[in-house]
Amino acid sequence: MAPGSARRRAHRSPALAVPLLSLLLTAPQPEAQAQPGERQAPAAPPRLAVAHLARAVAPGEAVLLTVTAPGPIEALDVRAFGGRFMGYPGASPATWHALVGIDLDTRPGRARVEIEARTPDGRVLQAAHSLAVARKDFPTRRLSVAPGFVTPPPSERARIERERVRTAQILAEVTPAPLWGEGFVRPAPGAVISLFGARSIYNGRVGSPHRGVDLRGAAGTPVVAPAGGRVALADSLYFSGTTVIIDHGLGIHSMLAHLSRIDVAEGAEVAPGDAIGAIGATGRVTGPHLHWTLRLGSVSVDPMSVLDLPGIAKRAHYPIQPPG
Ligand SMILES: [Zn+2]
Repeated sequence: MAPGSARRRAHRSPALAVPLLSLLLTAPQPEAQAQPGERQAPAAPPRLAVAHLARAVAPGEAVLLTVTAPGPIEALDVRAFGGRFMGYPGASPATWHALVGIDLDTRPGRARVEIEARTPDGRVLQAAHSLAVARKDFPTRRLSVAPGFVTPPPSERARIERERVRTAQILAEVTPAPLWGEGFVRPAPGAVISLFGARSIYNGRVGSPHRGVDLRGAAGTPVVAPAGGRVALADSLYFSGTTVIIDHGLGIHSMLAHLSRIDVAEGAEVAPGDAIGAIGATGRVTGPHLHWTLRLGSVSVDPMSVLDLPGIAKRAHYPIQPPG
């Protein structure tokens, strides 16, 4: 709102007079000497207000952006950290959110977030938001696994490549609507036993960092959908073992790995907290646990950073009683 229009409104509306008066006392008043009848300066182009909320602004963290426009927004598109993140409507048509992931390889320092909001009348409003990415150090974990998971036998290479391509295609799909329902929940009750981002050494050889979390749990413990969505994959894969991938919409996906069994079919729709299978020790593991990868577009983030976000994590606890 231009200061001139604020002053006009202040004269008409006594209820707004106090906050607007304090605004006028601190804002520059270029039109203070304007003569009666003189035209006001043309209104400034509508601005987007951008705020962010995060457990931490650091590599591997999820950041919830809130974008507020002067009027309704029809679509919100955010680009940051080499990824693209789709927005979704919030409490009012003028307030939208986007869940943004800070890639694990992001260097500390100022990062630019580019925001584009499209209005129902076809205008595109742009804004840039700055995030100060802190340095984060990740631990190293040393794992002993069956030799075939470090150097797969030639007979398995075609299967591994087929699964890599299929998984990449599923994770690249962007369903253009939020499907996560009430919000994110903990998919298994146990504590985190292997942190997101841990540098991983398998049988003495450096592997890729851990782009998920491992939750403790005995084999057979029910695993629930961490958010609503559509089951995009329910199958046995070489490295991740018995695996379920859920499409939460807007390019957001969960992968739940090393299960002992699957209780949902591909294509099924799930609500947050629905049972989808059970903890197991299938694939490249040292013992039973649940591995949870959470992807925001092309960026994997620490799922725990989403469970710590008010506004997207509705029930950050495990929603069902474990048996026994
Ligand atoms: Zn894991």
